[in-house]
Amino acid sequence: MDKIIDQAWISLLANAMNKQEKMRPEIGDTIDLYLTQSRLLSLASKYTDSPTLLYQTAQASARRNTTVIVRKLGMPTDYFWKFDYWPRSRAMSTLGQLVKRVFASMMTQAKEGNMTIVQLEIEPLRITIDFEDCVECAGIEGATQGLCYYHAGTFSGILSGLINQELDAYETACQATGNNYCSFVVGAKEDIYIKGGNSNYLSHSEVSTDFVARLDKTLQNQSVRPVGDQANVNYHRLAIANALSADPERLAINHFQAGSEFGRKLASKLAGFYGENKLDNMSKYYSRLGELRIEMEGNQVLLELVLTECTESIGPDKPMEMMSFLFGELQGLTSEIIKKEMRVRESHFDGERLHLTLSSQS
Ligand SMILES: [Zn+2]
Repeated sequence: MDKIIDQAWISLLANAMNKQEKMRPEIGDTIDLYLTQSRLLSLASKYTDSPTLLYQTAQASARRNTTVIVRKLGMPTDYFWKFDYWPRSRAMSTLGQLVKRVFASMMTQAKEGNMTIVQLEIEPLRITIDFEDCVECAGIEGATQGLCYYHAGTFSGILSGLINQELDAYETACQATGNNYCSFVVGAKEDIYIKGGNSNYLSHSEVSTDFVARLDKTLQNQSVRPVGDQANVNYHRLAIANALSADPERLAINHFQAGSEFGRKLASKLAGFYGENKLDNMSKYYSRLGELRIEMEGNQVLLELVLTECTESIGPDKPMEMMSFLFGELQGLTSEIIKKEMRVRESHFDGERLHLTLSSQS
């Protein structure tokens, strides 16, 4: 998973510098942000430890990659040495500018959102980040607490890497709770105030929002963000790989289960929207979201799917764990559409083509 994560970071950097080559020649390199949302929120609503796992791995991988990027840019890695002793104004302008020029610019280019350091205190350390047009929660309504765990981890990881300190973060305001933008506070890991805020934030397990209903907007082409609903594929790859990274083998089973439950709800939603319950709805949905291309063969007993330009499998490394949510989703979708319990039987790659066989239980 680390390989995929690091490669996605480098692709985002290349993308910000306009040096990124197309990863998907046919579909292009953007997805609808609902794709990532549906996966992350399915996991968070089913497994109480999933926000913590996502936060922690996003933080560790952002920190690791920040160090790599800083080195790539030719900056000394101890640039922020004795950051604690810097005058507030110098710290604010230097850190603010670096973040803006490199990390915020990567995210803006990838249409993840617009990140700005808006406030900084040195003693005790408190950095406030505002994040507009946040990809992670755009269009979500009615949440009782912020749910942008991936970005909370990523922001604390970037800042930990830059100033070489152990930091943590939590979200103090979120678009999903009705705010106009998301806001995060970052501070020292051992700071009681930060510690309490962070553990409170991550232990909040209830996703009190109907993210399946949210799909209506996507299907009806109602944009949920001023900057549009498309985001770079590498954001999606990062979110999914980070959600698995703590224990890919075990978590792949959770991803499959959550995917399968979501797939059933998705089938009903698509049947309502397209006016009929057909396997063809799947192709329409995936192409609408820019997730993949799908070819189908076979019948209700044995169904062969060939997936190409699949978001989770682009790039040279293709661990099957990355596909676990999608496979669960396809099992749930086909079962609900065919009205028979379908099971994933086999999957393999033939070059870039991913073959998936499903069959009915009996
Ligand atoms: Zn948020």
